[in-house]
Amino acid sequence: SSGSDENDVVVIGGGPGGYVAAIKAAQLGLKTTCIEKRGTLGGTCLNVGCIPSKALLHSSHMYHEAKHSFASHGVKFPSVEVDLPAMMGQKDKAVANLTRGIEGLFKKNKVNYVKGYGKFISPSEVSVDTPEGGNAVVKGKNIIIATGSDVKSLPGITIDEKRIVSSTGALALSEIPKKLVVVGAGYIGLEMGSVWARLGSEVTVVEFAPDIVPSMDGEIRKQFQRALEKQKMKFMLKTKVAGVDTSGDLVKLTLEPAAGGEQSTLEADVVLVSAGRSPFTAGLGLNKIGVETDKIGRILVNEKFSTNVSGVYAIGDVIPGPMLAHKAEEDGVACVEMIAGKEGHVDYDMVPGVVYTHPEVASVGKTEEQVKALGVEYCVGKFPLLANSRAKAIDDAEGLVKILAEKETDKILGVHIFGPNAGELIHEAVLALHYGASSEDIARTCHAHPTMSEALKEAAMATYDKPIHI
Ligand code: FAD
Repeated sequence: SSGSDENDVVVIGGGPGGYVAAIKAAQLGLKTTCIEKRGTLGGTCLNVGCIPSKALLHSSHMYHEAKHSFASHGVKFPSVEVDLPAMMGQKDKAVANLTRGIEGLFKKNKVNYVKGYGKFISPSEVSVDTPEGGNAVVKGKNIIIATGSDVKSLPGITIDEKRIVSSTGALALSEIPKKLVVVGAGYIGLEMGSVWARLGSEVTVVEFAPDIVPSMDGEIRKQFQRALEKQKMKFMLKTKVAGVDTSGDLVKLTLEPAAGGEQSTLEADVVLVSAGRSPFTAGLGLNKIGVETDKIGRILVNEKFSTNVSGVYAIGDVIPGPMLAHKAEEDGVACVEMIAGKEGHVDYDMVPGVVYTHPEVASVGKTEEQVKALGVEYCVGKFPLLANSRAKAIDDAEGLVKILAEKETDKILGVHIFGPNAGELIHEAVLALHYGASSEDIARTCHAHPTMSEALKEAAMATYDKPIHI
């Protein structure tokens, strides 16, 4: 343990924000301690978020392909079945390997790792209740709060992680539910809904808003929803959950139109509540040292990630901005660089967002709705994957690429990709946006053939001129 030796940097929370900040601080030569209460490093993302969800999305996709697509490619099996414990085992192994990997990185970079619950005693001292029942005081010249977020329930719904589950329970069901109701059509609900739909659950998504994933470009969203409907997911939009009855064998939901009106009921074996996440600062003692938060509990910081209390910083899901792992990591690096006296900056307008369904949806920059609202004149270039040779060759051609560029300068404002591997393809666009590239810049860049990346090039051609292949 660090005992009472003073650290240059103390990080509270070992998620993607905290562990990355800790490693970077150590790399910059700062004496660093990271405090984490969970028992394993990696935070929400590695333990109950990004990683286990992507493991199950991949496994369930393989099953679904084997069952429904392999035969048309000439690959035949007498039968295909799901071994759910094995599938969960594969996911758990991935999580265990990655969280242990971060412990290894801490050792390699000489980050001191303290297990336990951290609470502020003063702006430069954190008391840690250790899992063994002991207590330690960790001192630091700079303290970074990276305590992340936690699942949010809805009024009148109690999550028991068995029949009424959060994403955490939905990642660890012991049986495939016959009927799964997903409350909340954000990306987490749609990803988890996809997993169980592929494994055979009848999935109904109930959403209060008129649209799924509200932050998405409207045109892309429409095609995305249609694709999910083809995969047999049902959507009840503009609908609110008015009550939940768990007294019977099945959970009974009472639903009501968002605008009010006649109620209906819906039965489910399992209900997944995915109605957003809240910043997590319970027991941290923010009041004690006077750290300011906003109405929904997010810690307020300036452009240096500094809170109103000198020497206390905050990064990741616990501050405003996109609640994404890669954003938390960028925050962590920039925050520590500035503590070390260097420059650091994160542009939240250029954080890519990905939904890891099949096909995937990935975007960066502005949606068409946002561009319209800005009032700038713009050009749109689109290219369907149906006209992309690689997508056709592998018979996975649902989707499109859409580029928005400023009319006068051709500067790219936003890129939206709906298609297989969109989450990998988007980074060329992220780089383009960072460098202030025009659509012509992408269009005149030689892209390998046959790749799906050519669809981005053709969409760029369509933005300022004409595409070749359609
Ligand atoms: P967290 O990861 O929440 O880490 C905070 C850590 O701090 C936790 O481990 C917690 O135990 C610890 N902690 C809290 N308080 C204390 C304390 N007082 N003392 C000690 N330790 C404390 N994002 C993506 O970018 N891509 C995805 O594909 C993706 N998929 C997701 C899927 C699901 C199901 C969920 C739930 C989330 C997903 N996310 C994804 C979001 C992502 O997990 C978060 O944005 C990210 O984990 C935020 O990182 P963080 O470091 O700010 O906080």
